[in-house]
Amino acid sequence: MDILLQKVALPSDQDASGRNLGAEEIAAVAEAIRSGTLTSTKGRFVKTLEERFAARLGVKHAFACASGSAAVHCAVAAIDPEPGDEIVTTPITDMGALAPILYQGAIPVFADVDPRTCNVTAATIAAALSERTKAIIVTHLFGNPCAMEEIVALAAERNIPLIEDCAQAFGATHHGRHVGTLGRIGTFSLQQGKHITTGEGGLVVTDDDALARRMYLFINKAWGYGDPKPDHYFLALNYRMSELCGAVAVAQLEKLDAVVARRIELAGRLTEQLSDVLGVSVPYVAPRAVHTYWKYCIRVNPAIVPEGVGGIARLLREYDIFTAPRYIQKPAFMCEIFQKRRTFGKSEFPFVLARPEALDYRLERFPGTVEALEHILVIPWNDRLSERDVQYIGEAIRASVAVLRGER
Ligand SMILES: *Cc1c(COP(=O)(O)O)cnc(C)c1O
Repeated sequence: MDILLQKVALPSDQDASGRNLGAEEIAAVAEAIRSGTLTSTKGRFVKTLEERFAARLGVKHAFACASGSAAVHCAVAAIDPEPGDEIVTTPITDMGALAPILYQGAIPVFADVDPRTCNVTAATIAAALSERTKAIIVTHLFGNPCAMEEIVALAAERNIPLIEDCAQAFGATHHGRHVGTLGRIGTFSLQQGKHITTGEGGLVVTDDDALARRMYLFINKAWGYGDPKPDHYFLALNYRMSELCGAVAVAQLEKLDAVVARRIELAGRLTEQLSDVLGVSVPYVAPRAVHTYWKYCIRVNPAIVPEGVGGIARLLREYDIFTAPRYIQKPAFMCEIFQKRRTFGKSEFPFVLARPEALDYRLERFPGTVEALEHILVIPWNDRLSERDVQYIGEAIRASVAVLRGER
C-alpha cells in the first residue's frame, strides 16, 4: 500500500508528542518544590546539573543560566570587549547568538558560510578578522560541527578566543571531541525546541578558570558569593536558572544519550531513503564529525526541481509536514536591528563606533550565505519520530519532487 495514502500526524517538539518529559522530570520537580528552595544559590539541582554536565563534557567548569541567549551573553561578557571591538560570527544563526554581542557594546562582524553546511569556515572567518577582533563565535548549525581543525588553528595562531555556540549541537563531536570543548567557551540552550529542554534555560562550559569566574559572576549580578568581602564587582545581570528548571534539566540530561542516538539513527534512515532523489542533497557531514540532527536539513537544486524549496515546502504542507524553507529567511544582518541600528534609544550604539567595512552588509559579500539560504529546506526533527514517520517524510519528499518535475 502507498504509505502516502494515509496522512500521519508527526510528533512536535512544541508539545508532549515530540518531547520525552515524563515521570522522572515530574518527580524531580516535586522534590524541588517540597524542599522549599527554588533558588539555585541555595538548592542542589542546578549544582548537580552543572557538575554532571561538566563531567559529561570533560571540562572543569559548567554553569547553568536562564537561556541560550544568556549563555552567549555570559561568554561575551567574560571576554569583556571594549566598546566597538569586533566579534566575528555567522549570519545564519539564532538572534540570541547575536544580540548579546551588541548588549556588550561590541560589533558583530559577519563571516560568510560554506553553502554545503551553512557553517562558517576558517577561510571565511580569516577574511572577516581585523585589528579589532576580540573573539570568534561559531555556531554548529543544525547539530553539524563546523570544520574545527582549521578554525581552532586560526584562532590559536591569531590568539583570538574562540566561542562555540552549541545550542543546536548537544552530543555532537569533532574528531572524537565534544563540540563546546574545542574553543575557550561553549554555550548551550535548553529552550523548548532543543535536544533536551527545560522550557527556557542555558549552559556555559569552559576549562579556563578566569573565564569561568567571570561567567559565574555575570550570572549572579557579579556578586562575589562566598568571598571574604563580597561586592558587586562589575555590571552584570541575574541570569540564574531556578531550581525548578534545574530539576527538569537533571532528569533530561539522563536522557540525552538516548535522544542523540535516536536522532542520528533516524537521520541515517532518511539519508538512505533520499539518496536517489534527483535534485535533493542530504546533509553533508565531514569525515570524523558526528552530526546530532537538531534539524534535518536538505538542499534542493532548483535547476533540477522546478520551484525549488518553496515548491517542495508547499507540497509537503498537503501531507501535514511543515518545513522551513530558507531556515531564517534572510541573513541575520538583514534584520532591522542591523539595518536600522535599533539598539539604545536613538544612539545607534555600538554601531556608531564601528569601522565602515564591519557594517558592509551588501549581499554580494556573502555569496555562500545567499546560496545556502536559497537552497535549504529544514525538516522538523525529533527523537519521538517513528521509523514509519521517517519513511512517510521521505516518501512525501520523493513524491513532491516528482510532482514538481512533472513526473506525477
Ligand atoms: C536557540 C539558539 C540560541 C538562543 O537560545 P535561547 O535559549 O532561545 O535564548 C542561540 N544560538 C543558537 C544557535 C540557537 O539555536
